[in-house]
This record gives sequence, structure tokens and C-alpha cells, in this order.
Amino acid sequence: MDRDLVDLKHLKSRLPSQRNFSEPIQLSVEKQINHLLGLKTTLQELEIETPSEKLKRHMLTADQVTASQIHVERIRTVSPRLELEEKNLFGFLQEMPKCEIHLHMEACISRQTLLDLLEKHGVEHEKEKIERMYQFKNLQEFISLFLFILDAIRSPDDFHLIFNSLRKYLEENQIHYAEVFLAPSRMISNGLDFHEIAETIDSLASECVRTGGPEVKYLIDVSRTFGSENASKNLQRILKLKTTNIIGIGLGGAELMGPARDFKDVFAQARSEGLRCVTHAGEDDGPWSIRDSIEILQAERIGHGTSAIQDPSLIELLKGRSIPLEICLTSNVFTGKYVREEKDHPVRYYYDQGLICSVNTDDPEIFNINLSEEFFKYYKHLGFSITELIDLNRQGVYSTFHPHPASMWKQFEEKTAKLRKKYSV
Ligand SMILES: [Zn+2]
Repeated sequence: MDRDLVDLKHLKSRLPSQRNFSEPIQLSVEKQINHLLGLKTTLQELEIETPSEKLKRHMLTADQVTASQIHVERIRTVSPRLELEEKNLFGFLQEMPKCEIHLHMEACISRQTLLDLLEKHGVEHEKEKIERMYQFKNLQEFISLFLFILDAIRSPDDFHLIFNSLRKYLEENQIHYAEVFLAPSRMISNGLDFHEIAETIDSLASECVRTGGPEVKYLIDVSRTFGSENASKNLQRILKLKTTNIIGIGLGGAELMGPARDFKDVFAQARSEGLRCVTHAGEDDGPWSIRDSIEILQAERIGHGTSAIQDPSLIELLKGRSIPLEICLTSNVFTGKYVREEKDHPVRYYYDQGLICSVNTDDPEIFNINLSEEFFKYYKHLGFSITELIDLNRQGVYSTFHPHPASMWKQFEEKTAKLRKKYSV
């Protein structure tokens, strides 16, 4: 299977560009590569009833189910049995001022907030059942939970509770600046008014800054899942707004169902109207998806970018154009498409190659993780030194759409230097 993959990639790289037949052949090769990668992952997930000793050594030592690994991992990182040095580092990372730029608002809804929402709308529920839903074991169960959370949002006013949940997460992790995704498609189809949602979240973000809280900006996910017409409708809704904290659009959703090229016009219009443009790419599809995001959509940042490692010329492109990657380590291990263990994540390679990388959680409340733990994993599994972790934090600051990243970093840097002394790291 690996040999076939190498052959297919070689074949793809030899296709001449600018020829009439190139695009359909390229699409067909990409489809086959994806199919094989899917099969490979499925095979890796099969349980072997009586593995040989030799095979046992190569098998995962943790749970076979990746989601359980996340749980195991989290417990380990905050364990009281941590060595003193690691404890100090963890304390330092918790207090270090940070920013986060790949974070979904719906996935910052804590269990308690979800219960509060259900209570508010008089929806009958069992607390234990909700708790069990958060212990999801596979992608299907994860999606069920996500949809359950979305359907619990019944009115724009609910965003007061949701924003409180987000603010608590940001403050607990010393995240002073965040760019947060919100995907309104399902809420709109559930009958909610987008305009009201937008005005509510906009005023909540302004109020947050006024009361000494973190700065929150929004990127509205126009979504790949429901096609370009739906994405265009979402964009027209955004363009009618008079808000100050909604600064751009993102392209999330099912990557394999909605190739970047379908959204060319939507992104061109968004850019011409001065909106910032980012995409999720290379999370569930190959490096071509990242290249298309850059070349066709002119995305300013790439969310995930996990499959970029398969294409050296793409690495050069990312580097040459200084396009930052929003890395979501735990999320990628959970999805398991291109990486199955933290230690194998390409972020180490990307960083060493000089790509601009930032550290993000993607879905903190759902994965039961936070940004401080995410930084710790880079140290624990990928050999990032403390200086490198601080440098990643700096790269994150410069990856934001904040108008003055240098002054934000200056403040972060001063506080960070004091914290290094405090924790002797
Ligand atoms: Zn995401």
C-alpha cells in the first residue's frame, strides 16, 4: 500500500500542468491517493485478536482508540506525579501570556454551559447521558456530540452563556487575544437569525475588552459542507453587518466534500470587501488542498496543514510566501488521518524548516484540553525546548490579524521573562 502511494504521488508530480487533460487526471490521482490513505488508516485501526510478539512491539502501547489516548494523555500532563522540572514548566506555560487563532466558539461550550442551555430552554435531559456523550470514542460519536451542542443553541441570547464559557477558557489559560470561528449554517437552518447572533457576539466581545477581559475577534466559517451557494449566502449576510469584531471568513467543514476551487468567487468577493481569509486545509485531504487554498483562494493562513509534509514544493511555497500554519496537535491525533501519535506530528519538521507555526486547541471543551497543555505536549513529545516554545508563542502572535502584533509581543515578552525567573525554567 505504501509503495502504491509513493507511485501515485510520483505519477502526480510528473503530470504536465497547463494541458487540457491535466486537471481530470490529477483529480483522479488525488482521489486514489485519498482512498488508499483512508484504507491505510482503517487497517491501522483494526484490532488484532492474537498479535505475534514481534507485532505487539510495533503496536500502540496506549489504547487502540485514539480518543482514549487523548484522555490518557491529558491525565498524564496534569498528574501530580510530574517531576519537579516538568511541574515548573507546566506552571510557567499556564501563566505565559498567549494568543489563540484556531478555536471554534461552539467547541468552547463547557458541559455546564450545555446543561444551562438545555435547562434554559426546558429541554429534558439526563446529566449522566450528557457526561457519557463527552466520553466519545470515535469520530462518529464526536460529530454526534458536536451536533447536539449546536442544536442546544435556540436563540441569539444564548450567546451570553456561550461567551461566558469562552471567556472563562481564555482567562484560565492567559489567552489575551483570540480569533474565534463561528459556523452559523446549522444555526440558521435551525431558524436562528444570523444578524441577531452577529450583533450579540460583537457587543459581547466589545464588553469583554471594556471590562478588562481578553480581546476576541471572529472569523465566520462560511463552510465547505453545504456547497458554494450556501457559502455565498453566508458571505452576503456578513457583508451586510456593521460590526467591528467580525474581521473575516474561514472555510471549515467537510474538506473532502468541498474542494477549494468551488469557493473561488466567494473568497474573491470577501477579499475585495476587505475581509481576512483563512481556510482549514490539509486536515482531511492531501497537500493539493493546501496549495489550492493558497493559489485559488489566496488564504492568508492555513488551518492544520498536516498533509503539507507530503509535498516538499508546498513546504517551499508556504515558506516563500510566509503563510502561517494553525497547528492543532491533539485534534489531528484524534482525527487520525495523517498522524496517529503526538510524537509523529509534522509540526517539528515544519518548525525546523522555518515555517511559521502557531499552537492551537481547535475544540478545547470537546477534547477536554487547553492551550497550556497543548504547549506542554510540544515539549513532552516533540522535543521543543523552552526557548522554542516561547518562539512558537511569538510566531502565534505574529500570525494573528491584530493590527499591532509587535506591541502585543513586547508585552508578552516582558511578562514571559519574569515568569521564567519565577519558575526557574
Ligand atoms: Zn478547526
